[in-house]
Amino acid sequence: MEKKLKLLTYGCQMNVADSERMAGLLKKIGYTLTDDVQNADLILINTCCVRSTAEEKVFGQIGRFKSLKREKPNLILGVTGCMAQKEGENLIKRAPHVDFVLGTGQSGEIARVVQNLEFERKKFVDTSNVNGEIPHEAFPLRGGKISTFVPIMYGCDNFCTYCIVPHVRGRERSRPTEEILAEVEQSVAEGFKDITLLGQNVNSYACGTFAELLREVDKISGVERLRFMTSHPKDLSDELIAAISGGKHICEHIHLPVQHGSDKILQKMNRGYTVEKYLGLVKKIRAEIPNLSLTTDLIVGFPGESDEDFAETLDFLREVKFDAAFTFIYSKRSGTPAATFKNQIEDEIKHERLNKLMKIQNAISLEKNSAMIGSVVEVLVEGASKTDEKIFTGRTRSNKLILFEHGGENAGDLVDVKISQAQTWLLKGKILTK
Ligand code: SF4
Repeated sequence: MEKKLKLLTYGCQMNVADSERMAGLLKKIGYTLTDDVQNADLILINTCCVRSTAEEKVFGQIGRFKSLKREKPNLILGVTGCMAQKEGENLIKRAPHVDFVLGTGQSGEIARVVQNLEFERKKFVDTSNVNGEIPHEAFPLRGGKISTFVPIMYGCDNFCTYCIVPHVRGRERSRPTEEILAEVEQSVAEGFKDITLLGQNVNSYACGTFAELLREVDKISGVERLRFMTSHPKDLSDELIAAISGGKHICEHIHLPVQHGSDKILQKMNRGYTVEKYLGLVKKIRAEIPNLSLTTDLIVGFPGESDEDFAETLDFLREVKFDAAFTFIYSKRSGTPAATFKNQIEDEIKHERLNKLMKIQNAISLEKNSAMIGSVVEVLVEGASKTDEKIFTGRTRSNKLILFEHGGENAGDLVDVKISQAQTWLLKGKILTK
């Protein structure tokens, strides 16, 4: 009998990739994906706990399935991912209609756990090994058509003081190069052209250097665009810069989270670099990689952040001129050192600072995009836009979103587009006829 799986994924790309792998494992025991919750035999909630708002959303979602579980007693409800790892038994105590909780290191066990539950309804919780093996034989059931993620490593050894990731995803574990190359080849055979190699800190890939891995993936026929995230500034090597600048399909885009523009706060965050070191790195990569697009992450309202520290971040932003910055309000995560730091910042101040920061960065992003007007860029076509089927969307090598009038192209085509308009988050242009 055909069984239906409804998969709900919260959080980062790593979680999306984990969900695709779990769906691949569940397919082997007869589950196919459905969009309709009412139709599902199994609901899997793959969770995130990086911010408290993400956790609240997940609890809200779990609560909404209570009545459905009453109507359909055979429905299996499972929770996986970072929040499952962090909460374990507590999740079932708080939401007794949940059937199983599986930690991040046990995601490879998903099919066995579900099969056992089909056979015998008994609550199941396993978060015992946060450093567990990654399923090798999973054939991920990938979403999307053109772009996909291939995880190259799991976990993180850095212990930034605000971050829950090392606690819920364990220590760094790298996948063997051959396994990654095989997965990229498989993705290309499925029609994917834009590959992002994924890890919490790809620069500490340990089965050879990350630059070596990038060069190997770059050789695979059919990979049109090769990207990676995330890079820790303290580990970005000269070898990697050379690999990007000398690569054929390696895109000129680096996401390099700085997190703050004050040395005092960077030290309290345990980031392992100074503002000066980061600025030196930016200078070097911009000199070596022409047309580089540089993006970052920033946190406002870290404990002890004074007006002066925040002003330093604004000055830093104005100096570096990132193409885009993803800005976050500091969120206290229990179990991390920063949660116990004195001088936590009031919410109102955090929001004020975030608004100021975003205003400055948005103006910079617009200025950078406007400078591209009149230039011709190579665009990988993604498909029709959500609002108008005559307008297509695509991405530049620098990962900028671009809208253009459809002229008979298909998703996956590479076209040249002349940029005519710029906005903060996107560009508009016209396809050049060959
Ligand atoms: S590098 Fe820091 S912020 Fe990034 S995942 Fe590791 S501990 Fe978290």
